[in-house]
Order: sequence, then C-alpha cells, then structure tokens
Amino acid sequence: MWYMNEERELLRKSFREYTEKRIRPLARKLEAEEENSREALLEMGKLGMFTMPVPEAAGGTGPDYISWGLLLEELGKEGATFAFLALLRQVFNGPMQAACSKEQIEKYVKPAVNGEFLIGLAANEPAGGNNMFEYQTKAVRDGDDWIINGSKVLVTQASEVDVFLVLALTRDQIDFRTMEGIDIFFVPTSDPGFRAGHIEHKVGLNGSNTGSVYFDNIRVPESDRLPFPMALLMGFGPELSGYAAIALGGAEAMIAKTADYLKNRIQMGVSLWDAHESARHDLAKLQMEVYNYRNSLYGHLANRNCGIHDMLEAGALKASAGPLLEKVAGECMMLMGGTGVIRETGIEQYWRDAKALEIACFSDKTFTGNVAASL
Ligand SMILES: Cc1cc2nc3c(=O)[nH]c(=O)nc-3n(C[C@H](O)[C@H](O)[C@H](O)COP(=O)(O)OP(=O)(O)OC[C@H]3O[C@@H](n4cnc5c(N)ncnc54)[C@H](O)[C@@H]3O)c2cc1C
Repeated sequence: MWYMNEERELLRKSFREYTEKRIRPLARKLEAEEENSREALLEMGKLGMFTMPVPEAAGGTGPDYISWGLLLEELGKEGATFAFLALLRQVFNGPMQAACSKEQIEKYVKPAVNGEFLIGLAANEPAGGNNMFEYQTKAVRDGDDWIINGSKVLVTQASEVDVFLVLALTRDQIDFRTMEGIDIFFVPTSDPGFRAGHIEHKVGLNGSNTGSVYFDNIRVPESDRLPFPMALLMGFGPELSGYAAIALGGAEAMIAKTADYLKNRIQMGVSLWDAHESARHDLAKLQMEVYNYRNSLYGHLANRNCGIHDMLEAGALKASAGPLLEKVAGECMMLMGGTGVIRETGIEQYWRDAKALEIACFSDKTFTGNVAASL
C-alpha cells in the first residue's frame, strides 16, 4: 500500500497481534453477554493506544493520522464495539484537548490518554436529542462554582466512565452563531448527585452499554468548565473519518472469511469457489468497493498529516461507513448461506453493528448534514 512504510507495518502487526489475542475473545464474550468493557479499555490506554493522534503537549505521540487509522481498522476486524469505544477516546483526547486549559489537560486529558480513567460524552437529551437549542440540562452559577441539573439518554458506557463531559445550558438562550450559552463541564461520576439509570438492549455494539444518566445538583468548580468552542465542532474531522476505518476493517474481515468459506465448502467434489464464477464475481465487486474506500480513507488521513482538514470529505467518509459495512455484511451472509446467519460465524454481528454505528454519537444525517451546511 502506498501509505505504508516499515514503521507502520510494525505498528499494524503489533495492533493485529493484540486484537487477535486480547480483543477477539473478549469481544465475543461481551457481545454474547452484553457485559462491560471498562477494564479492557483502560488496558488499551495503558498500552498507549489512545495517544494517537494527540499532540505531545497533551500526553500523546503526535499527529500521525495514518497510524491511528491502522489501529481502528485492525480493531474493526473484530467487530465494531472496541473500535467504536477506542474512537470515542479520540474525540475526548484529540479535539477536546485543543480547547482545554493547561490545568484541565493535566487533570483530565493526560490521565485519560494514558488509561488512568475513562472519559465519556453526555450530550444527547430525552426531548431534543442532539439539538442543542432544545437542551434542558442547565448549569447555574453559584459563586465560584456551577450547579448542574438534568439528564441525558443513549449515552455510551453510561455506568462505566469516571468523568463525563456534560453539555449544559449556561444562559437562557444560545447564540446560534457563536454557540455562547452552552458550555461543557467535566463531571466526575463519583459525585453523589450522579446516577446511571436504565441500560438499553440494542441491535448492535453490544459490548458497550448505552443508557441514561442523571445529574442532581452537582457542584462543579469554574475551573472544570470548558466554554463551548465552535473550533471543537470543526475539530471533529478525525472522529468522522475514524468511522470509515472501523467499517473498512470489518468489510475486509468479512470478505476474507467469505472467500475462505467458499474455498472450503465442497459440493459434489468441487469447492463453491471453483464451481461458481458468479460467487467469485460478487466477492470481487465488494473487494473493489473496499479497495476504493481504503484509498479514499488513507488519502484523507495522509492529507490530515499535512495539515489539510477537509470536513466535507470527512463527512462523506463517515456517511458511507455504516452503509458499506451493512452492504458487505448482507452480501457476505448471502454468499455463506445458512452459515452466514449463525452467530458463531461472526458475520451477522457486523450487519447489526452497522446500524448502531451509523446512529451512535451524532447520527449521520444530523451531524454530517450540519457539517456540510456549515461549509
Ligand atoms: C449506540 C449508541 C451510542 C450513543 N452514544 C452516545 C454518547 O456517548 N453520548 C451522547 O451524547 N449520545 C450518544 N448517542 C446518541 C446519538 O448521538 C443520537 O441517538 C443520535 O444523534 C440521533 O439522535 P436521536 O436519537 O435523538 O434521534 P432524533 O433526533 O429523534 O432523530 C431522528 C432522525 O431524524 C434525523 N434528524 C434529526 N435532526 C436532524 C437535523 N437537524 N437534520 C437532519 N436530520 C435530522 C436523525 O438523523 C434521525 O435519522 C448514542 C446513540 C447510540 C445508538
């Protein structure tokens, strides 16, 4: 591949070895039992997997977006859950740190980058969803502190994270041009006013619990407030293309599994692969789509390494991630016949994950649509 070199090959190999040994068995277990993934994520942080592409000043290894794409691609081969959870870490550690004070970087960003604790995002609300103008969670100034009251729904790892980034109204009205009137607060879940409520049963991403969280008179110091910067929204480019890396890994894994199945499934003395040109043709067409998608993704990430940040391109990559995963999963399931729908085969999981991935953390339409509109 044009974007690979010796160093990145070694990195990919180490990601592959780790995901096969550690993440694969765990992902299967979590998927079946809908358990939590907290310990494994902390371990990934301690192994340095969340340091990319975080600037060195915030505890990272610097901005190599291609290496970061390789990590998500390799994780994506084992299903979308861990890759998605790792990607969320990027959202907090990457764009967020650019808006943080030095004190906040030391107190929250660096420990999160190093796997000392987990940070989560609590934005989506019961009434207005992700429409910030309808938020009801409020932060009211009280001396040097803020008092937060409200609730959020469909929050990833609702009962697992240590600190939530909570989006709350700080004025009666938000200025729609500057977004003044809405701020972000670091809220520790150890506060007695915090409660994680109902955990939902979802179609996919089952190794990551998703549920409601409640804030009851939580007192937060002014130093833990982050004024909502527009730059933060625009910094979400890497997060968006990360979805593409996850989908790419999943699609590659499924095509490899399906080719393997067709080659080893013998009927009347001949493998399905040798007997049916149409099956090879179907798989070759999928492979071509994946090949083009891979080149688009790494072209985008190579540009990011050069400081070029094309938000429309990032949005396009994200918007095609879920549909690509869903399409490849659907066709691979067909090519594998009855075996394709058996859980242990592991194809149907990508098919279920695809929908949850498409909607999780800013659905495609709301986010990429708004990003495109802002260009
Ligand atoms: C697995 C999972 C994990 C999640 N994790 C988190 C998390 O960690 N933190 C968090 O805060 N939230 C999280 N969410 C919530 C997620 O961000 C929202 O579900 C998503 O943004 C859609 O919002 P909604 O569910 O309120 O749908 P609604 O707002 O009811 O939207 C319904 C449909 O209308 C479309 N729509 C709505 N508004 C617009 C618009 N302005 N322009 C165009 N189309 C629009 C939507 O795209 C969607 O298709 C998660 C969701 C899932 C499924």
